Amino acid sequence: MSLDNLRDLYQQVILERYKKPRNRGKTDPVDRYQKGHNPSCGDTIELTLKFNEAGDRIDDVKFEGEGCAISMASADLMAEALRGRSPAEALEMVQKFQAMMRGEAEFPQEFRKLNVMQGVAQFPVRIKCANLSWHTLKAALELAQDAPEFVSNE
Ligand code: ZN
Repeated sequence: MSLDNLRDLYQQVILERYKKPRNRGKTDPVDRYQKGHNPSCGDTIELTLKFNEAGDRIDDVKFEGEGCAISMASADLMAEALRGRSPAEALEMVQKFQAMMRGEAEFPQEFRKLNVMQGVAQFPVRIKCANLSWHTLKAALELAQDAPEFVSNE
């Protein structure tokens, strides 16, 4: 696949997700809530998580927010990929995503949709947009008690 084709593909996926997100809203109930903000672009996200009864799997993930197509598409793809994962697996995916954006890793076949965000890594100023939802997820999973009102990825 040529670089141009690859660019087209990732732009198509991002635009489609931006226009028709599949995971917008709030989970019911809200087991975790975290706001995130990307000052360099102005993207904001409110992430909600629902766990299963045992509390060891993520049952549902939803997001609300305002921002550029990349930040919103990244949140939508992330929400889908997280369902059924344990918090530990989700945190591993955060690391993997950040490594991918540095050009150091790829997701395996089962998460291949996430690899589309790699296209964004060609535009360094946009990497923070793609990372915002993952950064916010990390805070939502790690900071159960003393969570700040919102996290910033600056
Ligand atoms: Zn942005």
